[in-house]
Amino acid sequence: MQIQYKPKRNLLQTILHVEIVQGMALTLRKLFSKPITRQYPQERPDVQLGFRGQHALVRDEETGQSKCVACMRCVTVCPSRCIKITFHDDEESGARVVDTYDIEALRCVYCGFCEEVCPVNAVTLTEVFEYSGFERDEIFFNQETLLSNWDRFAEEKGGDMSSYVNPFWRPRGMSKGNLTAAKRVNVPDEWTIEGQVVGKKFKTKGTE
Ligand code: SF4
Ligand code: SF4
Repeated sequence: MQIQYKPKRNLLQTILHVEIVQGMALTLRKLFSKPITRQYPQERPDVQLGFRGQHALVRDEETGQSKCVACMRCVTVCPSRCIKITFHDDEESGARVVDTYDIEALRCVYCGFCEEVCPVNAVTLTEVFEYSGFERDEIFFNQETLLSNWDRFAEEKGGDMSSYVNPFWRPRGMSKGNLTAAKRVNVPDEWTIEGQVVGKKFKTKGTE
């Protein structure tokens, strides 16, 4: 079956070419109305709270190194299996020392699980959204590039980065008592458990 659409027009509309006049009127109206397009990169968008951008390893301001303690929780939780860590045990202290820390970011789904599960807030997804590369290796982050990602992010943010808080560092729906000391951060008001389905469930248990 062939369907044909033929708008109904009367003789006057045909003679006056009403559609053309309407089209020109619309063009004229838009010509003087406020543009809705953003002139990027001159006009930069505001990054929303909880934005998940480029990965970074937080640089410890005291040691100048990563805060990672090689607990392997991020490796275990990552659904994309894109985090790889190797480590050795320090002979004196017995503590784990990270040898390599790699994130194949092209495989990442930006779920934020790694930063949420990290007991020491060592790994994070920054607000940096402008990153790309010509080679695959450029989006394959190792420990050095992850630390330099943090440096770049810190420079862009400015101010005291020791007080920086990422909303994902505080797992939702968990009482403070069940969190490690580093996770007991005060999150911004906007990032409360009220209004969230999972959060409400825990709220009734009097967690906070
Ligand atoms: S954001 Fe999710 S997918 Fe990406 S590295 Fe972290 S845990 Fe893996
Ligand atoms: S969860 Fe945190 S401390 Fe543990 S291995 Fe991952 S980045 Fe390191």
